[in-house]
Amino acid sequence: MAIPRRTLLKTAAAASLAAPSIASAQAGAGRVVVIGGGFAGATAARTLQTLEPKLAVTLVEPNRVYTSCPFSNGVLAALWEISQQRFGYDGVVKTGVTLAQTAATAIDAAAKTVTLADGNKLSYDRLVMSPGIDIDWTALPGYDEAAAQKMPHAWKAGDQTVLLRQQLQNMEDGGLVVMSSPANPFRCPPGPYERASLITYWLKIWKPKSKLLILDAKDTFSKQRLFQNAWAQLYPGMIEWVPLSKGGKVVSVDPATLTLTTEFGRHKAAVANVIPPQKAGAIAQQAGVADRSGWCPVEPVAFESTLRPGIHVLGDAAIMGGMPKSAFAANAQAKVCAAAIVDLLAGRKPVDPILINTCFSLVAADYGISIAGVYRPDKGQLVEVPGSGGASPLDVVGGYRGQEALYASSWFKTITAETFG
Ligand SMILES: Cc1cc2nc3c(=O)[nH]c(=O)nc-3n(C[C@H](O)[C@H](O)[C@H](O)COP(=O)(O)OP(=O)(O)OC[C@H]3O[C@@H](n4cnc5c(N)ncnc54)[C@H](O)[C@@H]3O)c2cc1C
Repeated sequence: MAIPRRTLLKTAAAASLAAPSIASAQAGAGRVVVIGGGFAGATAARTLQTLEPKLAVTLVEPNRVYTSCPFSNGVLAALWEISQQRFGYDGVVKTGVTLAQTAATAIDAAAKTVTLADGNKLSYDRLVMSPGIDIDWTALPGYDEAAAQKMPHAWKAGDQTVLLRQQLQNMEDGGLVVMSSPANPFRCPPGPYERASLITYWLKIWKPKSKLLILDAKDTFSKQRLFQNAWAQLYPGMIEWVPLSKGGKVVSVDPATLTLTTEFGRHKAAVANVIPPQKAGAIAQQAGVADRSGWCPVEPVAFESTLRPGIHVLGDAAIMGGMPKSAFAANAQAKVCAAAIVDLLAGRKPVDPILINTCFSLVAADYGISIAGVYRPDKGQLVEVPGSGGASPLDVVGGYRGQEALYASSWFKTITAETFG
């Protein structure tokens, strides 16, 4: 099934709104617990409750307010404030979901219970886990939680984003910003390159003698030619990208001297943004749904764990075949999973889904690019439909990039409204 890219882009935001149409489950619908109130979990909880009002849906989330990673690179570039990244859970509660404002600390898959940090225990018929990522603090010598206060990762938005922005603002003009980007898989494949672009957008205005160096553990990256063409056009001589094969992989860091060491040399930074290797949120390991890779294998229809039946894993924590770890994907998976759970609880077989993902990136305030794909189950995996999707064209005329920047901000408004109400 080939879907032309233009049609896909136009329908992407609308598609992300369209909850699957489904008949109501029979009475006595059951109890579903959702762990993690991010793009996947909050969407799953709201959709479950909307599709089947008789369900008892509980969302377990320790934070009163969610801080969004999408668009947080714009905070670094002072395009908007961190307050615009924040969303509460009133809209989730309004749909009838019960909010347990605490963390899940243990899962007993045999007894079908979740233990909470406040001492309570919840029973479930189906459990949804969407705890997002944790930084793998064992993966990069020198990089621990204390080091992250000197060399912020800012890969979980919030205090880390604010810290990195402050460091950039305090840096002298002429300073070197060094970023490190990890090997796949990791949260938001185009994210490091959007960040490099927007930091440089800001440097060009406020600290034009400064430069940005990206040390990469990969030889290729998402939307690479689009990014590199834009860098040559907008920021000539300001961004240097060092791939794996040229010695880009960072093997250790020293927070005391802000030094990043690669196999080929040492780089001393004025500001260092270390994006380290990641894994599924810790509760996934505790529940036994993560494998040795650190991520959670699932089947491609209801996203049920292949390791622990009855537990569904969504979003960044899961291994979703060809689908990238994005908020767009997390939201789409959550809607599919909610519909499948309603079916399963009513004794029906869930239908094979088709999912869309689109990742927008800003290269400057008024310069957007995107990549899109369509995915469906095939041989136990989610695979990209051949001929679907694609990236923004390399050569464009007129206001095309400006239009895509507008699409990006419309998408952000849509996805956050849909996730948090
Ligand atoms: C800089 C940056 C830019 C990005 N830009 C984009 C973009 O433009 N477009 C896009 O689509 N994606 C983007 N992403 C990716 C996006 O942020 C993630 O893919 C998305 O947040 C994944 O959603 P999730 O629900 O799986 O995890 P999260 O959104 O991280 O949510 C996980 C939730 O689980 C909670 N939790 C964790 N452990 C527990 C526990 N034990 N008990 C209870 N709750 C728990 C956490 O508090 C959190 O609220 C970006 C990411 C970054 C870092």
